This record gives sequence, C-alpha cells and structure tokens, in this order.
Amino acid sequence: MSAALFDPALGSAPGWPLVLYFHHVSDLVDHYTALSPDAFRRGLETVLDTVGPALDPAAVGPGFSPPDHPSVLLTFDDGYRDNLEVAAPLLAEFGVRVLLFCVTGELDAADRLSRSERAALPPRKAFLTWAEAELLAASGHVLSAHTAGHPRLTELEPREAAEEVAVSLRGIGERTGGPARTFAYPYGLIPQPPPVPPGVLAFGTVRSPPEPWARRPLHIRRTYLPVGDTERWKRLAVGWREQWFGSQ
Ligand SMILES: [Zn+2]
Repeated sequence: MSAALFDPALGSAPGWPLVLYFHHVSDLVDHYTALSPDAFRRGLETVLDTVGPALDPAAVGPGFSPPDHPSVLLTFDDGYRDNLEVAAPLLAEFGVRVLLFCVTGELDAADRLSRSERAALPPRKAFLTWAEAELLAASGHVLSAHTAGHPRLTELEPREAAEEVAVSLRGIGERTGGPARTFAYPYGLIPQPPPVPPGVLAFGTVRSPPEPWARRPLHIRRTYLPVGDTERWKRLAVGWREQWFGSQ
C-alpha cells in the first residue's frame, strides 16, 4: 500500500460519510488523534460547517445506505474516561453522537478498580467502567466493539483473532441488549480474511482504502484531524466535502 493512502486528506469514499476517529479529548495526552478541548470544539465546528451534518450512529449498521448529501460520522477508539468527562459535554453542545469502540477487557478491568485506584491512573490508562459507558449510551452514543485486549490482530492465529473479535462483540451485545453491529480494528491492522462475523460493519483507519462501504464493509476507511495543525483543518474539510461528490 502506498504512503499516499495514509494521507489524512483522503476522505472515506466518494458518496459515503466522512468518518473521523479520535482517542482522547484532553490537554494531557500526546497522541496523533488526541485533541485539547478547545481544539476539539474548533474541529467540530469546522467539520460540521464545511463537510456536513453528523450522522446518528444508531443508524449505522449492516445495510446502511448513505444520505444524499455529505455527512460526518464521529468515532472514538478504546473507551477512555475522558470521552465521558471531557468529550461528551462538548458533543452535547453540538448535538453530535458518536460510535464508541470499546476495548471490552479494559472496561471489565476498570470495573474491578477502586475509586482511588482509578483516580491515580494517567489518561492513557484510564478507561470507562461499564456503568460510565452506559451513561454515554443513554445519551445516544453507540457502544461498539474494538476487541477484548487490543492486540495486533494480524499477529495472532486466525482462531485467536476471531476470538478477540467475538468476545468484544458479545460483551457489547450483553451491555446494549442487542447484537453489536460495528467493530474497529486495533491499529487499523486488518487480517485477511477479516475475523469479523457476518452482520457487522468493520472500520479501519487511514490504512484502509477509500472505497464504498457497500463494496468493502469490513475495511471502512476513517481519517482524522491532525493534532497541532489546526490551520490545515479547514482545507482538509473542504477537500473531504469535494471528495464526497467524487465523479458524480
Ligand atoms: Zn484502539
């Protein structure tokens, strides 16, 4: 795969929603998809104003067909506590709901910690408890699967990779009262064939090619707002909007 495909300027696929991924909204985290609260607010404004409205993630699943205008789907990976404490109030200001790809084993582990143990964790280690994830779900965010232990799936035996995916899908299903319909690959690494059961849409990263979801439902491309490069975001958003129309 060429380096150009990893370019965040490349949108998801012509005619399909732009999908953005984040990990943290925090002043304390240094990561290529972690934005400060102010930057996150500015990013939301830029993308919603320039590309189009946010999709309701509850509508996203197998058989999804895109709206007839450019739109945006926001996603968060791993299930960090700052998603609830910092990102959720900002998302609420804009009326935006997100897909929340949870590392289910980390939420299980968070449930076993005391309040003081959790308070001592740095943001990169501070995951949601299930009760906190359910608070987000009650606000309209959609809990989704991201493996049980966040391995590099391409380095596992096929049976182990399938089990990682299945355990997380089951965990989400048990908490949401219905089968999980969306999944994201850790690190955007996608084994061939993908270890994802039928009836699930699976999301990659900028490593995935920009193809229609209907053609590649297990390789959905996501892109991101590069941290610290806010001057560029408006140009990115204009480009993403123009790409939506593709060759139409
Ligand atoms: Zn992840």
